[in-house]
Amino acid sequence: MNLKIAVLPGDYIGPEVMDAALPVLEKTLKKHGHALECSVHPVGGAGIDACGKALPDETLAACDAADAILFGSVGGPKWKDVPRDEQPERGALLPLRKHFELFANVRPGLLLPSLAQASPLAPARIPDGIDMVCIRELTGGIYFGRPKQTTTLPNGELEAVDTMRYRTSEIERITDVAVAAARARKRRTICLVDKSNVLETSVLWNKIVSERVAKTAPDVALTHLLVDNAAMQLVANPGQFDVLLTENMFGDILSDEMAVICGSLGMLASASIGAKKNRFGFPFGLYEPSGGSAPDIAGQDKANPCAQILSAALMLRYSFGLNEAAAEIEAAVRSAIDAGTRTADIAFGGDAVGTGKMAAEILARI
Ligand code: NAD
Repeated sequence: MNLKIAVLPGDYIGPEVMDAALPVLEKTLKKHGHALECSVHPVGGAGIDACGKALPDETLAACDAADAILFGSVGGPKWKDVPRDEQPERGALLPLRKHFELFANVRPGLLLPSLAQASPLAPARIPDGIDMVCIRELTGGIYFGRPKQTTTLPNGELEAVDTMRYRTSEIERITDVAVAAARARKRRTICLVDKSNVLETSVLWNKIVSERVAKTAPDVALTHLLVDNAAMQLVANPGQFDVLLTENMFGDILSDEMAVICGSLGMLASASIGAKKNRFGFPFGLYEPSGGSAPDIAGQDKANPCAQILSAALMLRYSFGLNEAAAEIEAAVRSAIDAGTRTADIAFGGDAVGTGKMAAEILARI
């Protein structure tokens, strides 16, 4: 395979963690017999500085021509006076999501057992750490459904309406993303989270997901939880989850709950998968750390590069089907951490190494 990647490092720690991730990606692909063609482009504040626009036309054209986007993070105080809609996040990320119809947000919740103290949960609740993936539908549901309006009733009261709407095709395509996620994991289990005791849309989700999994993925097990129970189970016994699949609003809430129980933002990757397929027939996607540009630690060799490196692994898995290469990167991160290598965000006051040293330890394990 010759992988064509648009690399958008962005702002503050973005370029630092991207510099750490690219050698890991290159070495892994070379080892697995694949070629990598990266083109690097400004985005966010860097786009505003270089071209006067958070998402310069050349950057978007490069993304269009690529198989996937590896994204750093954007934004920060330098551009605080730029008009709101032109600011790095709104002016770059939102248009990219819209342009590529990125309908699935994939967030692995990873807490290695050796980092258990990073979690707000009591260690007894997480004897094996946390290793799950939350898959959230991102472009449908109550955030986008129409009508969405506030009206004044004849008696003078205000009445507001939001509409939750889903159709079969939207549910089927996100189910396929969840199946791909489950197939790359040992337990191969999807837990569908909904509110099918009350909501029509949830009844539809339940029906379509059950049919789709039964028809296309008999090797994948499907379980079910109501959303209120799922919120409790996530803190009571997160180890039970493998792949959690849910609609937009439930996913918004549950994926943040999952992130907080996993400890440092510096360890959490994410993917936004699109409707478009790349040259290899896999979903086009945008892969980025869950955290932001961390201006408070930028330029000090303090940023944890793991989230960016793990984002590159996600890219190999979802946009190229390279599950073994992805697993090798994840194992290298795990091994470096288990050996005691820590950046400041996960050192808990103990000895910490810099971004470069952490990346070198991971690279050496590929
Ligand atoms: P942040 O995620 O950048 O930082 C929050 C805290 O987490 C900070 O203390 C930071 O040092 C720490 N942190 C984050 N990533 C880390 C890493 N890799 N290693 C070690 N520590 C890490 O959130 P913020 O400070 O609220 O936002 C800063 C800027 O980033 C803002 O302009 C915000 O809008 C932007 N942002 C961008 C994205 C994106 O590009 N997708 C996402 C979130 C925030």
